[in-house]
Order: sequence, then C-alpha cells, then structure tokens
Amino acid sequence: TDVDAIRNFCIIAHIDHGKSTLADRLLEVTGTLGHNQKNAQVLDDMDLERERGITIKSHAIQMHYPGADGRGYVLNLIDTPGHVDFSYEVSRSLAACEGALLVVDATQGVEAQTIANLYLAVEAGLEIIPVINKIDLPSSDVEGVSRQIMDLIGNEQEEIIQVSAKAGIGIDELLEAIIHRVPAPADYREQPLRALIFDSVFDAYRGAVVYLRIVEGRLRKGDRVRFFANNKVFVADEIGTMGMKRQPCDLLEAGNVGYLICSIKDVKDAKVGDTVTLADTPAHERLAGYQDVKPMVFSGLYPVNSDEFEDLRESLEKLSLNDASLVYTPETSAALGFGFRCGFLGLLHMEIIQERLEREYHVQIITTVPNVEYRVLRSNGETVLVDNPSKMPESAVIAHVEEPYVKVQIITLAEYIGNIMKLSMERRGEYKNTDYLDTLRVCIHFEFPLAEIVFDFHDRLKSVSKGYASMDYEYIGYRQSDLVKLDVLLNGEPVDALSTIVHRSKAYEWGRKLCQKLKGIIPKQMYEVAIQAAIGSRVISRETVSAMRKNVLAKCYGGDISRKRKLLEKQKEGKKRMKQVGRVEVPQEAFLAILNID
Ligand code: GDP
Ligand code: MG
Repeated sequence: TDVDAIRNFCIIAHIDHGKSTLADRLLEVTGTLGHNQKNAQVLDDMDLERERGITIKSHAIQMHYPGADGRGYVLNLIDTPGHVDFSYEVSRSLAACEGALLVVDATQGVEAQTIANLYLAVEAGLEIIPVINKIDLPSSDVEGVSRQIMDLIGNEQEEIIQVSAKAGIGIDELLEAIIHRVPAPADYREQPLRALIFDSVFDAYRGAVVYLRIVEGRLRKGDRVRFFANNKVFVADEIGTMGMKRQPCDLLEAGNVGYLICSIKDVKDAKVGDTVTLADTPAHERLAGYQDVKPMVFSGLYPVNSDEFEDLRESLEKLSLNDASLVYTPETSAALGFGFRCGFLGLLHMEIIQERLEREYHVQIITTVPNVEYRVLRSNGETVLVDNPSKMPESAVIAHVEEPYVKVQIITLAEYIGNIMKLSMERRGEYKNTDYLDTLRVCIHFEFPLAEIVFDFHDRLKSVSKGYASMDYEYIGYRQSDLVKLDVLLNGEPVDALSTIVHRSKAYEWGRKLCQKLKGIIPKQMYEVAIQAAIGSRVISRETVSAMRKNVLAKCYGGDISRKRKLLEKQKEGKKRMKQVGRVEVPQEAFLAILNID
C-alpha cells in the first residue's frame, strides 16, 4: 500500500457514548465483518469487558475502504482503553494514530472523560474529528451539544459529523471525513526501523502478540528485532496486519500498523510504550514517551483456604502474563496467613483482576481494604515506601509521611456545586477553580489525596449529584500529610490485616465507627470479644461483643448503590469464609468493614 492511502485513527469518548457501537458499524460498513458477526461487539473480546461496557485492552483492526474519489484506502482503527486507570495505555494508542474521532452522546453532552481524552489527543498532535452520536434518540440535543463541542475545541459547526452508530446514520459521511481530514502518515520508510508497541497480549500457543505502529523503517518476516527496554533480541517469526483475524504478511512499512510474533514467553518483555528496532541495523534512540507504569493502589489477596496458596500464585502468574502492569509479591499476615500484596493501576484495574481470579481461575480469595503507597521519611534520613499499612514504622522513628495526590476534574450541573464542595471537604479536597462550560454545566477542579477518592468517592459523587457528575483524575505527586496508623485489636491482639492509615483529624471518629461496624459483623462467640482501635499504644475506642447465648445471625448492612456495595456483596456471599484470628472467629467481610463507613 502507498503510505498516503493509509489512515490511522482511534475513537475517543466518555464511557457509554457509543465508541464500541460506532467501531462495529465502521467494520460492518467497510465489509470487514462477516455477516454472521454482526451484533457481537467484536472489539471487546473478553466477557468481562462486554459486561462492563469498557474496553480494557486496545487492539487494532484494518479496514479497506473505497473512497468516493475512486481510490482504495487502508483504515487502521486503533482501539483505546477508555478509563483513567489506563491513561498511559490510552496515550500510547493515540501515539500510533494521526487522527481521533471524538464521540459525544447527543443526549449527554461533553463529560469528564470526553475532555480528559481530548486533551491526550491534542497533546499527541492528532487531527480531531468531532462526532455527535445517538442523533436517532428523541431526547438528543444536537444544537446544545454542538455548542459545547465548539466551546471546547474551537471548531466550526460544519466540522461536526452527526451520526447514529446504532441506526447506521451518517456513517458514509464519517468515512469520507476520515480519509479527507486525517493526515496520511509521514513517509519515513527509508530510516532505520523504529516501531511503537501500543499493546501486547498473551497467546497460549504463540507467546506474546505485539501490536505495533511502524513509525520509521521496514520490518520483514525473519528479521532479528531488538526491544529497547531490555535490549533483548528475538526473531520475527510472523508479522502481519489485523482484520477479524491475524493476516500474516512479509513486510510492514513505516506508516502502517500490525502485529509481531517472536516467541516471547513473558509479556513483560514486550511492554506497552517500548520501541522495537532491528538488531543488525538498529536505530539509536527509542521513540519518545516511554514510561514504566507504576501501580497506584495496593491490596492484600489471600486464599480462603490456606492450601490454595499455590493455586493463587499460579493464577496470578497467568494473569500477569497478559497484563504487564499487574505486580504481586508474597506476603504473610498474622491474621490471614500466606497471600500476596498486589499493586494495581487503579481501583477499576483491581476489581477486574479480583473478578477474573474468581471467575476464570476459580480461586476464592479474601481481599484487604485497598490502600495507596505512602512515602515515609525516617528520623535517620532514610526514605521508605510503605504499600501495606501494617508495615508502617513506629511513629517514634518517623520524621514525616507523604501521600500521593491527584488533580481531579468534575463536570456537573451548576445546581450540584454545593453538594460536591461539601463532599470534597469531607475528603480533604483542595478546591482550585470552576470553569463554566455553558450556562448550566461546570467543570470544577480540585486536588485530592488519592487515598480519599480511591474507594467510594465516585459512587458518593454520583449520589450527591443524582447521577449528573462525571470525574477524571491524574496523578500529580507526593505531599506531606499528618497521617497516623490506626490498629484494630481483638481481645488485645492486633489484627494486622485491619490496620489502616488515616489523617490524624479523622482518626478518632474513624476508630469509633470502625469498632461499631466490626461489632455488627463479628458474631457472638463462646466468650466476650473486645474490639479496640488504637493509635500506637493508645486505645481510642472500644466495643464489646458479649458472649453467645443463642444463635445470632450476622447483621445486614444499610449502605448505598455501587462499586462499594458490590465489593461488600461479594464478601457477603462468602459469609462462610471465616478466619480464626487468635481465639476469635472473624468473617471475611470484617476485612472490608472500613469500606462501609461514611
Ligand atoms: P462505549 O462505552 O462508548 O463503547 O459505548 P457503547 O458502544 O457500548 O454504547 C453504549 C450504549 O449506547 C449501548 O447500549 C448502545 O447500544 C447505545 N448506543 C450506541 N450508539 C447509539 C446510537 O447511535 N443510538 C442509540 N439509540 N443508542 C446507541
Ligand atoms: Mg465500549
């Protein structure tokens, strides 16, 4: 193919605005989909993704499109993950494109991830084609949404394409816009090979399948290739492009997108963002923008039955083959036994891993409350990273503690500003400023400690705004905070898996509520159980579970909609999952009790 007949583009949108539906429609209209494949959302190939309506892993699909000008075009649609947890992967997928379709739901308007993704696309220098979707719906407000888009990107009304991905309206016009407005790739075929890895997946038979954009040079079947991140050399056993299946070929040239299979046994050797070159005639520098992704949220995962520890290890190993961002190290807890401390990119990532472990690998697990990673400066000048609250050093040897902060943007209707301000104050948020998007909608900017928004902030936000708020966050660095470790003791024995790190100003209230909550969860036993919360050696709160007289059923929760509720319900299913902690029987839901505190 001629380089100037290639168009590389992606679709960016807020969740549920129709990205997958539009992608499927494009595949159908260009004849890429066989007829029997209609209706299945083909780009989302994992069940879990389909259920959640979130594209977790990016892929690339090649389409052939005969333009109205009579010329044949090759369109490479690069799918991007849509969630903030995966924003580095989003930015790598964008770097493989020249253009982006910015899809906005005509009934919803611009939302937080619309803006966050747009910024990433603009940063990547992409040509933006604004698209208003769902114009078939009676409640669509094409005019209002057009205005929002024009305010946002400063384009002309005529540049906005109106479509219904579902009803198939406006798709031809959109395809013409793609070939006329998205620039062809620059012709760098004569340079040494540099290819950007924007995704890699694990295939049980072939090893890692590496998706790449050939930015410069040529890649031929049989070439010896080198990966910059680790300097490892492999032979390109198979290269090709992606249709509905892999289509092997002998040559991939600059400007094109394709895959590479070279017997890589571990996806960690083919990291998203890395550059591939030729071993014999290498380029000297890797492509810009590579970043080793770091986990932001940590949690302990323990098998319910301690003899399933090896099964859990094997399952984590398999999962991490497909997910270079999942990290785990063995740890032991006095309360829970042998398990793993796992690091995730964010809360969504954590939930996905937990669900897959239970669903695909059938390992019953107990999870501890998620926490962020703290940076502790000891009085002796040494800095340590603490990813498990029970490992926090004694306060006597601490000079200060730092915690990760994030920049948060919330888009909502002006009438909910008050509620959101109140919520953010409860969560130690620092208000920055407010932009009016139009007369009704605002974008409020805050800075928050990541720990304060990590578990249920999003759900609380939805409930105080009756669903009319969307948010997005971005990591901005560590800041010093007055944090203390809060321990829980059962009959005088500290339970390491229940330790948390909280801001000093909240410690008393937190301790009291946690003890009350645990009292409701821990069933009566043959003897009295004392539940205490303590900071260091100072007990700040106490509750008592009296000795058993007759059978008492564990209490039910009140509580709110949501992710938090889902976590808790999952734990409820496993009420039988009791752990013997010292002489006390503790249901596993106790280990998540803190999630249920408001
Ligand atoms: P994504 O999260 O951006 O990938 O969104 P999806 O493609 O999964 O679409 C979200 C929901 O909107 C689904 O229920 C779709 O059927 C629906 N949808 C998508 N496009 C249209 C459209 O043009 N018209 C209507 N009425 N519904 C649509
Ligand atoms: Mg989707």
